[in-house]
Amino acid sequence: MNIIANHSLQGSNTFALPGRAEYFCRVESAGELHQALAFARQRRLPVSVLGEGSNIVLAGDLKGLVIQMGLRGVQVVAQGRARALVTAAAGEPWRDLVTELLEQGCYGLENLALIPGLVGAAPIQNIGAYGVELNDFLVSLEAVEISSAEVRQFNREQCGLAYRDSIFKGALRDAYIITSVTLSLHREPRVNISYPALKVALAEYPEDKIRPDLVCETVSRIRRQRLPDPASEPNAGSFFKNPVINAKRARDLRERYPDMVQYPQVDGAVKIPAAWLIENAGWKGRRGPHCAVHADHALVLTQFGDARGRDVLDLAGEIVADIDQRYGIRLEMEPRVLGDCEKPD
Ligand SMILES: Cc1cc2nc3c(=O)[nH]c(=O)nc-3n(C[C@H](O)[C@H](O)[C@H](O)COP(=O)(O)OP(=O)(O)OC[C@H]3O[C@@H](n4cnc5c(N)ncnc54)[C@H](O)[C@@H]3O)c2cc1C
Repeated sequence: MNIIANHSLQGSNTFALPGRAEYFCRVESAGELHQALAFARQRRLPVSVLGEGSNIVLAGDLKGLVIQMGLRGVQVVAQGRARALVTAAAGEPWRDLVTELLEQGCYGLENLALIPGLVGAAPIQNIGAYGVELNDFLVSLEAVEISSAEVRQFNREQCGLAYRDSIFKGALRDAYIITSVTLSLHREPRVNISYPALKVALAEYPEDKIRPDLVCETVSRIRRQRLPDPASEPNAGSFFKNPVINAKRARDLRERYPDMVQYPQVDGAVKIPAAWLIENAGWKGRRGPHCAVHADHALVLTQFGDARGRDVLDLAGEIVADIDQRYGIRLEMEPRVLGDCEKPD
């Protein structure tokens, strides 16, 4: 394993933001991961983990050792008539896992097709799309504690998965490196097309023709049509989480903004699409000198090639302040800020 000093991370994040790692290595086995942790421990270096860098804002240089996850392997560890238990290593690309499992007759992940990133990052924010989230299938995960290099199993409850959240973003932030996840998948072809945009896209098909492979193709097609490709328009996907507010606040806002889109939740709270707030505040398509709110996607910030993390965070900060002032709602960023400058308050 090669540990490189002063390594550029600009090609390792989908926002293509500049920043350097004091030390950098890619680990492809458990042994290499332990060597990397020993290197950091001996020198008292902080450790950060990187997958594909599709959910970070690189705000400057990173001190210490940056470990890029390269553990590979997918295994069906048990199966019965109804379910299969599958363990996937943290360095597997998520999008490949979805198609590989579909081909093997393990169903459920189709709605999560084409989400960028690696398997090890999926539990960090409980990835979700088209009415499905990782939480629906995660059984457990294995992780290595950074401080002690001890291996620990977490069951689903211990991961604290919630909407774009987990214990690894909260109490255990920066404490563990996830090395594999175990999922429970359907062996019978089952589909979940409750999400409105998916239902509409599949409306022309009779019910018995809507099988998991069609759902996977449809989700992939919608995503290709709708989402900007980071290769040509650097971005980190949705930049803000959809805020959840209490029912009374939602009613008050409805009175002031009768066309505000609102999604009541099972617990009585109400989710407001951040895209609606941003678009209605006039931010969609607004361009700064280095970065912009995407013209077709109010939730996506993009940069023109010369931005620094600070430029993206400044734009995000202006949006947060404006939405707060207009609607009394404080937007939260979805990507993690890594590097010198902190996220906007
Ligand atoms: C175009 C686009 C579309 C997207 N669409 C969606 C979507 O539909 N739904 C969705 O939920 N997300 C979406 N995302 C966000 C992103 O794809 C996911 O969050 C993904 O899981 C990030 O994976 P990554 O490997 O790139 O993680 P990174 O960006 O490299 O890391 C993200 C965070 O996880 C930590 N981390 C990464 N790997 C590990 C590990 N093995 N152990 C411990 N910590 C780790 C990092 O330190 C960092 O804090 C989108 C992003 C883009 C660019």
